[in-house]
Amino acid sequence: MKITHTINEVKTCVREWKKAGLSIGLVPTMGYLHEGHASLIERARKENDKVIVSDFVNPIQFGPKEDLATYPRDFDADCKLCESLGADLIFNPEPAEMYSDTFHSYVGVNTLSEGLCGKSRPIHFNGVCTVVSKLFNISEADRAYFGQKDAQQLAIVRRMVRDLNYNIEIIGCPIIREEDGLAKSSRNTYLKADEREKATILHKALTKGEEMVRDGEKDAKAVISAVSDMISSEPLAKIDYVDIVDWNELQEVEKIEGPILMAVAVYIGSVRLIDNFIVE
Ligand code: AMP
Repeated sequence: MKITHTINEVKTCVREWKKAGLSIGLVPTMGYLHEGHASLIERARKENDKVIVSDFVNPIQFGPKEDLATYPRDFDADCKLCESLGADLIFNPEPAEMYSDTFHSYVGVNTLSEGLCGKSRPIHFNGVCTVVSKLFNISEADRAYFGQKDAQQLAIVRRMVRDLNYNIEIIGCPIIREEDGLAKSSRNTYLKADEREKATILHKALTKGEEMVRDGEKDAKAVISAVSDMISSEPLAKIDYVDIVDWNELQEVEKIEGPILMAVAVYIGSVRLIDNFIVE
C-alpha cells in the first residue's frame, strides 16, 4: 500500500491506473479508523480494481467552538488497518496541501444543509462538500463510499453529484454498531465509562421510533415525542434535535408517507453523538 501526503503523488498513481483501464473506489475519512470505516473499505475493495482511502481531518468543516484541535488521530494504526483490508493508497495531506493561503472556492448544497445538523453546525456541510469535491477531482474515482451513520451528509453528497454532474457513483453503506447498539464513531473515545454506558439510549430510543413507524404510525409528532421522552429520561443526555424528514429533500414532515429519515443528535455529557434510521 502506498502512503501519500501530496496531491501530486495521488494524481501520478491515478494517471497510471486510468491508463491501464482500472476502476477506482474512494473512501473519504477523517481517520482514527474503526469497523464502520472498515466496512466501507471492504465494500470498495470488492467493487473496484484500486482503492484509495483519504485520511484527513478537514479543518473547514469544523465550527470555531468544535473539536478540531482534539479530534482523535492515530495515523500508524490507520495505515495498518488499511493495509490489512487491501487498500492500494492512503492519502494523508496536511491542511496546507489542501487549502493554500489563497484558497477561495467553496461548494455547497442549499436547503438540504439547513435542517438537522445544519442548524447547530451552519458551515459544516459546505466544508464537507468542498473537501469531497476536491477528493473526487484528485482521485478521479468511479465510486465513492459513504456511511448512513452520517445520513444528512450522504443525502447532500448524492445531491451535489446529481446537481453538478460529477462522474462518480455514490454508494451508501449501513451503520456498523457496537454489540450494545451504539453506532461506532471516532468520537466515542471521548465518552467516560458511565457516559459510554448511557450512550446506548440513542439506539434504544430510535429502535422504539422505528418500531412505531413500521407498525404504521403516521403522525411524525407522536414518534418524535416518544423518542424524545425516552432520551430525556436519561439524565446525562441533552437533546440537540430529534427530527423526522423526508429522505429526498430532508424537509420536516407531519405525516409519515414516503421514505423518511429519523435522525437525532444528543449530547451525552459534553460529547455530541448522532444516530438515525431510514424507512424507505
Ligand atoms: P468520518 O471519519 O467520521 O468522517 O467518517 C468517514 C466515513 O465513514 C463517513 O462516510 C461515515 O458515514 C462513515 N462511518 C463512520 N462511522 C460509521 C459507522 N458506524 N458505520 C458505517 N459507516 C460509518
